[in-house]
Amino acid sequence: MTAPPRPTLDQLVTGVRAGDRAILARAITLVESGKAEHQALAQDMLQALLPDSGGAIRLGITGVPGVGKSTTIDQLGINLIDQGHKVAVLAVDPTSKRSGGSILGDKTRMNRLAGHAQGFVRPSPTSGTLGGVARKTRESMTLVEAAGFDVVIVETVGVGQSEVAVSEMVDFFLVLLLPGGGDELQGIKKGIIEVADMIAINKADGDNADRARQSAADYQGALGLITPTSENWQPPVITISGRENDGLDVLWQKVCDHRARMMASGEFDARRTAQAVGWMHDMLSERLLALVHANPAVAGRLRDCEARVRDGKLTPTRAVDEIMSYLTATSTSATPP
Ligand code: GDP
Repeated sequence: MTAPPRPTLDQLVTGVRAGDRAILARAITLVESGKAEHQALAQDMLQALLPDSGGAIRLGITGVPGVGKSTTIDQLGINLIDQGHKVAVLAVDPTSKRSGGSILGDKTRMNRLAGHAQGFVRPSPTSGTLGGVARKTRESMTLVEAAGFDVVIVETVGVGQSEVAVSEMVDFFLVLLLPGGGDELQGIKKGIIEVADMIAINKADGDNADRARQSAADYQGALGLITPTSENWQPPVITISGRENDGLDVLWQKVCDHRARMMASGEFDARRTAQAVGWMHDMLSERLLALVHANPAVAGRLRDCEARVRDGKLTPTRAVDEIMSYLTATSTSATPP
């Protein structure tokens, strides 16, 4: 079977705007591609679609494998579709390359949402560093928004640094936890609770209901000791059952309340702007560092400086000064010093 011809820029932009799912899927594949020619087209497309994006509620959800993310997102997504929303789910799972099989990429997850005309589920990009995977997901977010999805859920696993990357691309960051057991037991790192806009204790059903309520009280107490991310929002702790569709209405109401408060205080726009500019700076840092490593002469000097720092013969600041002046010299003259 031969692949269909690649759509032109115009076809991509028009197709995405029209909400054509096949074109949307191809547009995301283009964004995820590492090939230079694909990237050039992808960036033209993103630039053209930028004015069409930004309208969605962006919700980040994290939690360890097994906490019930896909069950909860599937149910929440269906509830929101019933209310008239269009729901897209994207994922950031930098483990997907290493393990060969991604934690979030399993195609059997979120079946109802994936199969729904008003739903769209895209597994995590499978190649690259966390920064690279996060960039692709951010750019995919632009595409799904331009395609008319007004709720975008970005899912990530509670391992590695991916939660921080996701919290920096969404409006509301939700941490799912299990009833009982402390942070360590749940494999949740301290910093994550600090960036949470809400904690939901999942599986609050059957024999677990009482334990879940107790956990919620414990976490609410613990959160009281942490400086909230905004002076206009004290992160609530709720109990839910994704499987039983219990508490998901409260969950969504909190997301909407938060949005209304952030809009009223001006923090909503400020946060979105800071995220976009921060993203630009992150990418610039990553590319500059890549430039250092890509230049054999500079990379050699870097190794040499590293050895001298390790031996206590050179201060780290002097080492950076040396590499920077070497880098500047090699990038401005044909004959490096
Ligand atoms: P994920 O790895 O975080 O995406 O978790 P899944 O959604 O795949 O759920 C892991 C397991 O927990 C599955 O066996 C689910 O059926 C179960 N589960 C998910 N949500 C609930 C819930 O609200 N209550 C109960 N009792 N089980 C749940």
